[in-house]
Amino acid sequence: MALAYPRALLKVSGEALAGEKGVGVDFKVVEALADQIKTVHAMGVQLSLVVGGGNIIRGTAASRDGLDRVNADYMGMLATVINALAMQDVLEKLGVHTRVMTAIRMESLAEPYIRRRALRHMEKGRLVIFAGGTGNPYFSTDTAAVLRALEVEAEVILKGTNVDGIFTADPRKEPSARLIPELTFQEALVKGYEVMDRSAFGLCQTNQLPIVVFNMNSVGNLDRVLRGEPVGTIVQ
Ligand code: UDP
Repeated sequence: MALAYPRALLKVSGEALAGEKGVGVDFKVVEALADQIKTVHAMGVQLSLVVGGGNIIRGTAASRDGLDRVNADYMGMLATVINALAMQDVLEKLGVHTRVMTAIRMESLAEPYIRRRALRHMEKGRLVIFAGGTGNPYFSTDTAAVLRALEVEAEVILKGTNVDGIFTADPRKEPSARLIPELTFQEALVKGYEVMDRSAFGLCQTNQLPIVVFNMNSVGNLDRVLRGEPVGTIVQ
C-alpha cells in the first residue's frame, strides 16, 4: 500500500515517555513506542523524531517555583536530550539505526544539528532524533518539531498524544464530546482548539504544514496515519 507521507516528523512529548507515572521515563512505554516506530520505519517512511522534556522539567513551571526562566529553559532542553538518548537506546536494541542530533552542542554524546547532515542520515535510512529543542529559551519542543519538519521538508507533523485527537470538548470531563476528524488552521484558531502552542501553530499555518493529532497508545495508529487512513484529527 502506498504511503500518504513518505517523509514525516513525529513529535513525542516527554509525558508520553513517562506513561502512567507522569514523571521520569517508563521504559515499558518507550519500548511500545519504539516498536511502532520500527514498524513504520521498516515500511520505508523517512521518519524523524522530536522529543519533549516535560516529564523531567518545564521551564515555565520551574520559573514559577523561583528558578531563573532562561536557566530553567536550558534545563528543559537538556531534559529532551535525556529522553532522546532513552529513545535511541531502545530503538537501536530493536535494530533501528538512529542518530541523535542536538541543537546545543554536546559532541561526546550526540552530533550537533546540521540540516544537510540530517537529510543525509534520512536518505541512508537512519532515523534522526532531534534533541535540545530549538536550542533557544522561551520556545517549546512543539516549535522545534515544526521548525525541523520544515527544514527537512517533512510532509506532515504527527503529534502523538494519549487522547484520540481534537474533541469538541474535553472527553474526560464531557461525555458528549465528539472527535473532530478534520479542521482548517483557521477553524482551529477561531474555535480555540489547543493543537500546539501559538508560535508552533503559527509556523505550521504560515507554511501550510499539516498536523495530525492522534492517539499514540493505540498500537497500529502511527502506521495507519502514515498510510493516509483517517485516524485522529488532521489540521490543514
Ligand atoms: N525548551 C526551550 N526551548 C526549546 C524547547 C524546549 O526552552 O526550543 C524548554 C522549555 O523550558 C520546555 C522544556 O524545554 O518547557 C521541555 O520542553 P516541552 O515543554 O516542549 O516538552 P513536552 O511538553 O513536549 O514534553
